[in-house]
Amino acid sequence: MKYSELNGNVKRVYAKIRMLDDYHWDIHKDKIIGYHRKSEFPIRIRVVESKEEAEKLSEQKDGPGIDIAVLPDANTFYIKNGTFILSERFLKATLMDINDHIIWGGFRVIERDGKLVQEDLYEYLGGPLVRHLKSNMMNGQDYVFWQFYKCEKCGKFVDIESLPEHMAKHGINVAEKDNEKYEVFELNFIEGGVFNKFGEEVPQNKFAPEAQAFIRDMIGEQKSGK
Ligand SMILES: [Zn+2]
Repeated sequence: MKYSELNGNVKRVYAKIRMLDDYHWDIHKDKIIGYHRKSEFPIRIRVVESKEEAEKLSEQKDGPGIDIAVLPDANTFYIKNGTFILSERFLKATLMDINDHIIWGGFRVIERDGKLVQEDLYEYLGGPLVRHLKSNMMNGQDYVFWQFYKCEKCGKFVDIESLPEHMAKHGINVAEKDNEKYEVFELNFIEGGVFNKFGEEVPQNKFAPEAQAFIRDMIGEQKSGK
């Protein structure tokens, strides 16, 4: 199929999102499939005529990833059966929001074809995304995501920057590790606290002293900067 033969609605929707280089796009006759570049997480975008059609589509899922049904009207935005049903004009911003919620969560080094390669782990934080959309929270302004490592020696969470120093105190050299898996927490500047992906606050006593100082710096700084 040639690009010129595509349905006009598909072309119009595609033209609105093709500059988002966090994704690459496959364009089909009736849908656009995006892959988040770093994580390969798929996003299926279907152009529909009505809410009824969108809701019907929301009942079927083609596998992991995010489904979006795009409507031609001006003021629709809701989530049904995990599918985003939204007006064309909200699509680009929503894809940018989704990108903000796919977070690097660790790595492992594996042997493949006689070489050592790093595999990266990413996490899609769908629960926080919905909460942030509902309360109009902006990444970098109202919250940031941060990686924390649960120390196998003392059981406390350590922020990623403080990890080498923290592990050194236990006599562990992080350079010897071939994998690390982090918990991604939200530093919420509005609430002044740290939250896990389920929206539960993580109390300060769960963090190592270095991480507590880091959180105080981050949250205190943001508050006084406002
Ligand atoms: Zn420790």
